[in-house]
Amino acid sequence: MTDHDKLYIDGQWVPSTGSGSIDVINASTEEVMGSVPEGTAEDVDRAVAAAKAAFESWSQTSTAERGKFIQGLADALGARNQEIAESVCGEVGMPMFLSQLVQAGLPAAVAGSYVGILDEFAFEEEVGNSLVIKEPIGVVGCITPWNYPLHQVVAKVAPALAAGCTVVLKPSEVAPLTSFILADIIDGLGMPAGVFNLVTGTGPVVGEAMAAHPDVDMISFTGSTRAGKRVSELASQTIKRVALELGGKSANILLDDLEGEELDKAARAGVGSCYLNSGQTCTAFTRMLVPRSKHDEIVDIIKDEVESVYSIGDPFAGEARLGPVISDVQRDRVRSYIQKGIDEGATLVTGGPEQPDDLPKGYYIKPTVFANVDNSMTIAQEEIFGPVLSVIPYEDEADAVRIANDTVYGLSGGVWGADKDRAKGVARKVRTGQLEVNGGGFNAVAPFGGYKQSGNGRELGKYGLEEFLQTKSLQL
Ligand code: NAD
Repeated sequence: MTDHDKLYIDGQWVPSTGSGSIDVINASTEEVMGSVPEGTAEDVDRAVAAAKAAFESWSQTSTAERGKFIQGLADALGARNQEIAESVCGEVGMPMFLSQLVQAGLPAAVAGSYVGILDEFAFEEEVGNSLVIKEPIGVVGCITPWNYPLHQVVAKVAPALAAGCTVVLKPSEVAPLTSFILADIIDGLGMPAGVFNLVTGTGPVVGEAMAAHPDVDMISFTGSTRAGKRVSELASQTIKRVALELGGKSANILLDDLEGEELDKAARAGVGSCYLNSGQTCTAFTRMLVPRSKHDEIVDIIKDEVESVYSIGDPFAGEARLGPVISDVQRDRVRSYIQKGIDEGATLVTGGPEQPDDLPKGYYIKPTVFANVDNSMTIAQEEIFGPVLSVIPYEDEADAVRIANDTVYGLSGGVWGADKDRAKGVARKVRTGQLEVNGGGFNAVAPFGGYKQSGNGRELGKYGLEEFLQTKSLQL
């Protein structure tokens, strides 16, 4: 059990002004594994006041000084890999080996990347008779989701601090525990009081108080499109900057020149890109777009891949590729989408809405594949956030691009083809913030963010630093 009864405000662990607490549930045992304070609007006021006061001196520190803290942060995150991975494996249910690599490894790598970026970044440039200066925007409110709980926090907090901003963090109330590890690390680094503050609680109370607060200069939000819209509405009253990283319904296009082994590889890789973290990934490739003439052949490959590779089970046990989904609410939501797919006439290839027979406890969902999906079906339009793949046949390349773009979202996607240049050409036509061509790997310093209703922000690398800067020009 990891029980926390204090918030981190102004360099101190302090009780909330409220008396509520929020239980954190282990996704595979359904048991309480910890608790955190249910913060209040008054807690937000205290944290924002501390961050505002700290901004005066933190914004004036040198990049070398801030780089030293960021390096310390990266090192400490690396040293606590096991503890972080165990926490997320419990809260979220991602298998340990993946939690170590992604949930714990990625935040350390992202924090570390900002040391070099700070070194190289041009905070000033001369334009004619002007000196153009990039300055930190001020107090940043960070609101984050549960699926990659520490990664999403660090992708905001590290560049915000590196930029010279001060931070109030509200992590997801469903997976908040690693934010306490982060606060403990920052406390141990001796960062000045008020530079980083942690207020846990619910979105409608703590999140909305942050979005509406007149002394918060920017909200950096990752989560659902629904909550992102609400945050934007509230933030508009004080004209604060809002960076949004929202949902997705990404398409993975397999072009018609793929044959034999290449086709096999593309189809199998596509399953992995959909099922990572039991499908609870904003960039999950949930729609596989395949040439109609090869639909049945590809569905056979996918069925074989899912049934032979994607075992589900205890995420701590070390054998399963897929753990449970995060909560009973999420499990019920995913099941109802699977039922909807059946009701709307898609072909259920494998999986289904029932609890797996051998796993009576835990929020498990059978890895599910639908074939012959029409892009107008609910399962092709709405973000499911579970291990559910829809195979959608297309007529020709133009039709594939049309289907890929026929969604309100625009976060990610993939294109696979025997002719890589052709695949790159198709990727240029898809309206999303990032695409993988022939399985190109994740790049922790490439810009990450969405088009359309997937958001307007860009995280990671120097693009993530720029989010937290504003521009001044001195005419000389
Ligand atoms: P969510 O929107 O329910 O919650 C995200 C955060 O917003 C939480 O901290 C929550 O407490 C807070 N929140 C909720 N309502 C709020 C309100 N009215 N005002 C202020 N804050 C509020 O999302 P979730 O269920 O935690 O996460 C899943 C969603 O996040 C999915 O839609 C997924 O696609 C998206 N996501 C996007 C990215 C990205 O980078 N684009 C990354 C991961 C997850």
